[in-house]
Amino acid sequence: MGSTTTPLVETMRTLPSDAVRQIQWRFADRYDLQMLVQSARSVARGPVARLVAAGERNTHEWTAAKNTMLEAFDAAGITATFMEPEEGGFIAGPKNLALSLAAFELAWVDGGAATGSLAGFLALAPIHERGTEEQVKKYMSLAAPAQPGEDRKPWRGAFALTEPIPYVGVDTGMLSGKLRVAEWKDGEEPMLQVDKRGRFITNIGFANFVTAAVDSADERIKSSCMVILEEGDEGIYDRGTPTKKLVHQLSSTGDPIFNLKVPASRIVGGYTIKDGVIIPNFDHSEVIEAVFRRTRVTVGLMTSAKLLSAVEPVIRYQRGRFRGAETATPGSLRYEMGIQQREDALHRLVDVWATGEASASLGFAAARLFDELDPLEREKTAILKERGITGKRAEIKAMREAEARAIALLALPEGDPKRTELEADPLVRYALLDAVANVLCPATKLWNTGQGSNMMREAVSLMGGYGITEDCPGFLANKWMDSQLEATYEGPEAVQRRQLTITMTSEVFLAQFRRWIAEMRGIASDRPGTGACTLATAMTMWLWTFNHLQKATDANGKKLYQGPRQGVTFALADALCWLMASRCQILDVLELEAKGPQDPAVAEGLAGTLQFLTDLCHTQAARAAGEASRICAELVYGYNRHPAWDAEGYKACFLSDELDEYESIIPGITSAATDVIAATGTHPVKAGPCAGCAGSVDFLHLQNKLATCLTGSRLAKDRAAEAVSKVMIPEALDYPA
Ligand SMILES: Cc1cc2nc3c(=O)[nH]c(=O)nc-3n(C[C@H](O)[C@H](O)[C@H](O)COP(=O)(O)OP(=O)(O)OC[C@H]3O[C@@H](n4cnc5c(N)ncnc54)[C@H](O)[C@@H]3O)c2cc1C
Repeated sequence: MGSTTTPLVETMRTLPSDAVRQIQWRFADRYDLQMLVQSARSVARGPVARLVAAGERNTHEWTAAKNTMLEAFDAAGITATFMEPEEGGFIAGPKNLALSLAAFELAWVDGGAATGSLAGFLALAPIHERGTEEQVKKYMSLAAPAQPGEDRKPWRGAFALTEPIPYVGVDTGMLSGKLRVAEWKDGEEPMLQVDKRGRFITNIGFANFVTAAVDSADERIKSSCMVILEEGDEGIYDRGTPTKKLVHQLSSTGDPIFNLKVPASRIVGGYTIKDGVIIPNFDHSEVIEAVFRRTRVTVGLMTSAKLLSAVEPVIRYQRGRFRGAETATPGSLRYEMGIQQREDALHRLVDVWATGEASASLGFAAARLFDELDPLEREKTAILKERGITGKRAEIKAMREAEARAIALLALPEGDPKRTELEADPLVRYALLDAVANVLCPATKLWNTGQGSNMMREAVSLMGGYGITEDCPGFLANKWMDSQLEATYEGPEAVQRRQLTITMTSEVFLAQFRRWIAEMRGIASDRPGTGACTLATAMTMWLWTFNHLQKATDANGKKLYQGPRQGVTFALADALCWLMASRCQILDVLELEAKGPQDPAVAEGLAGTLQFLTDLCHTQAARAAGEASRICAELVYGYNRHPAWDAEGYKACFLSDELDEYESIIPGITSAATDVIAATGTHPVKAGPCAGCAGSVDFLHLQNKLATCLTGSRLAKDRAAEAVSKVMIPEALDYPA
């Protein structure tokens, strides 16, 4: 290769093994999850890969061949992942990590297959999160795969929020789906008329039930809600025409039409009746919020899988590129290394790989966080109920107090006796985790899919013309397009950015963010090669910019950090995502370093793997710092008006005559002066007098510091590239092209 560096330590021998991933993503002690990964992988690299290879993505229709995939999901236990053991499942407790791992495995081969399985869970999620006990019992057991000896087909579900234009989209409050009272006999349960048209509804080709968002169009129904529709309900259950998708063709998508009469007991979460009015216990936004904050993490991880799955096919292609040519005889560099002789090819692959690592680390961190948060959320609800705190307002007030205690806890020094008391308070713990989850979920969805999609283009480009053909191993072109749906599905990027602009302002989040800066410096002190110091400086710069923008105004005196000013708030949210992903990546490598030696399968060759993954961290931290720096600098300076060659601008300039005078008092000043107006009135040829940095000198110091903090990051990239050129890969991909 073109690099002139030599590795300082042992280089990585093989691609990171399952055992390495289990430690990094923290399921080394979860045998149930390891089994799930294996069975999801066997479906992905077996039946799913064969469907793709056989060209099943070339039709929009839901074919008999595609349908066999559902049975494969059932047989492999993927369908049952969502259920509790008593409902027919096999994983007890929270399942965010489990669902993420299964989706990751499926998306490693095909995003549509992953989405199809996720959409079934998405249909059940409103019931799981907010459904009544009876609803949970009924639909979970109907959707669970048949037990041995049971003769029934599991029910499949679809989730219908999106509606024909001009409704829904980013603004989920704008619903055209309507709910009215159809019949309400004295003393009997009301019957409701549901009128809903869906747009782009996944699984609709075969769904037996649908959870649909509808608004009230009847004064006897108080608010919007989600309602469960069943095939067989009285009225129209029309699946509509299949969507002509360019992506995810192994899932079924269409625009259904429903006009159905259903009992009021189908309102998700139930209802009460007051003064002759049906009051749903949860409006549709409350249900959707609870659902999406979990499911969006899984979608983000699908794109991570694509990036990491691209590594092996690209390496194989690069190495074999010249084999067979007269000039490439076995044993020659050209034969053995192919395009990998060239530094750029290796560096670009390192970039793709580093992004994949960072996005997987971010996504799995978010999934684990929700696993921790789920039981705490239930505990929080029970505590508030026990204390007689009911209603949204009272709950918000109680949680504000808990948040204040959480901030107080973060300010206490280690060993302070008050810490123990506050740490034991479940409401404080909830406040701390919730604030981070509210950032990590949209960050995962936004950054993994958006930046992931950009990097999938890079991956495709590394395969040359082959990359954009159906024959490309690893189906990379499909994955590139598919990742764009992942950026769109469950709310496009604007939704995630909007959410971040609110959640990242939480004092509880910011207080933790400050501690993470110190944490990164601490890590850097022991492990300078991780890039943690670079990241800490970039995080400091982000925080400085965030605080600055809260007060700063633009050239016209208009406030910068405010909702409608998406040019400011969205950009700052983007910058934060880069930093969060890089931090999670570093933490995962430290975990591997700590736990790896205890597992004999990992311990062998660990030094080389750690060196490589650490170098990827450094590479990614430098990239993240660069992105954050670019965005922050634009925001800090970009809203000031540039001085012009006018009367006002001249005030900041020297006149050539006066400069001559100054020179006699301050020798050398002439050579330092940039903006000098000649006696003839001519000025230097540029946009105007150079802009000053009033109010932002600290920013310049930080930016200077950050530039020097990049020291060593390219050496890390060179080392990573060298490792990529030497790592052993299997003879052939383990799924068909
Ligand atoms: C294959 C497929 C499967 C799907 N499956 C389902 C499903 O199962 N169930 C379901 O309910 N839906 C489903 N959807 C719908 C999907 O969730 C929506 O397409 C998605 O949320 C985007 O909404 P939209 O298409 O209306 O885009 P729009 O809202 O029109 O967005 C277009 C662009 O404008 C931007 N934008 C919009 N509003 C703003 C704003 N306020 N500020 C700044 N920028 C803005 C967006 O970020 C985006 O870039 C599916 C879609 C597809 C393509």
